[in-house]
Amino acid sequence: MIGVTVLGATGSIGVSTLDVLARHPERFRAVALTANTDAERLAEQCRQHRPQYAVMVDPAAAQRLRALLADLPERPEILTGIEGLEQVAALPEVSYVMAAIVGAAGLRPTLAAAQAGKRVLLANKESLVVAGALLMQAVADSGAELLPIDSEHNAIFQCLPPHFSDGLARVGVRRILLTASGGPFRDWPLERLSSVTPEQACAHPTWEMGRKISVDSATMMNKGLEVIEACWLFGTDTDHIQVVVHPQSVIHSLVQYEDGSVLAQLGNPDMRTPIAHAMGWPERIDSGVTPLDLFSVARLDFQAPDFARFPCLRLAFEAAHAGGTAPAVLNAANEIAVAAFLEQRIDFPSIAAVVAGTLEALPCESVAGQGLEFLLAVDQRAREQAERLVVARG
Ligand code: NAD
Ligand code: MG
Repeated sequence: MIGVTVLGATGSIGVSTLDVLARHPERFRAVALTANTDAERLAEQCRQHRPQYAVMVDPAAAQRLRALLADLPERPEILTGIEGLEQVAALPEVSYVMAAIVGAAGLRPTLAAAQAGKRVLLANKESLVVAGALLMQAVADSGAELLPIDSEHNAIFQCLPPHFSDGLARVGVRRILLTASGGPFRDWPLERLSSVTPEQACAHPTWEMGRKISVDSATMMNKGLEVIEACWLFGTDTDHIQVVVHPQSVIHSLVQYEDGSVLAQLGNPDMRTPIAHAMGWPERIDSGVTPLDLFSVARLDFQAPDFARFPCLRLAFEAAHAGGTAPAVLNAANEIAVAAFLEQRIDFPSIAAVVAGTLEALPCESVAGQGLEFLLAVDQRAREQAERLVVARG
């Protein structure tokens, strides 16, 4: 029996993870489930999955959870705060940790899981963007396994040979082709983008996801974060990654080899496929996903990304190229800008403007030899700067 902690159990990835887990009761057991504030949903999940631990980050929500579970004969131990998250990420009875918290808030527990040598199922791309060097080093030091859940990175992982960590050039890879749907505004007239509402931005054409990543998909910042994520996961650089807009979201990414071969992974857009892949790896297990029917897909389209329409994608490439603190600043500013857009404090085009302004205000510094505290301080400074820019634009 494999013990599993699901960080961010109440979110879109968390719910899909529990769906896959419940299909294999002989194989997996939920040991700990965590959420930020949604006590009601976490209570339902505790009733169904009977974990030993439940973490509500917010103490008031933890009180609600306690009350909601009062009648349960075997109640989970309820923990709170970031310390609670770190504790359940490193439990001895847990082998796999699904890192599915949204944003840099996921960094500390994800790092704790890596340091404890777990199989880390990484959905929380922001933690690699903020602290890629630190997280990769923790994985190497502890012998943890890092398996990508992001559909593109999971696809690339599936298309690479097992010893790809020797270096992509050494295994004959020319470049990675990272697919992107282009989001809901791919074909909108540019002048209409200032009227975009949060609901329109969150209505993704092919994927159902949490609100933050949905907005990131609409600005294509999501693809930018994924470029940085791919650099860390596969030990490569931006010169060896090409973004390919593919509106059907059926090809989840591709790897191009020196001999002219291009390998791709295809499937219906349903996150249970990469989740089941990473949970079963190296075996294949049922995910509940409907088999792909190529006749109903009928055609596959490809376009080059439009950097003028999607300035966030350009900013992310520039931050990836600059390295150092730039990706952490980019990420923090984006989190503030997206939250402000969802609260209708700024318009859609202002997201890119806030990120650009924050990167200009905070010069890029080296992260060599720096630890977590340094990165958290950079993150905090960038949030404060971005918030000032939000107020100035609002
Ligand atoms: P979501 O908003 O649906 O869920 C987020 C989860 O994180 C919830 O359980 C919430 O309680 C928890 N959370 C939020 N803020 C927190 C905080 N401050 N501290 C602790 N917990 C907190 O998000 P999602 O769509 O499931 O995305 C989760 C992560 O997976 C993101 O990093 C996202 O980029 C990545 N991802 C998601 C998808 C997808 O299809 N949804 C695909 C690829 C990657
Ligand atoms: Mg993705």
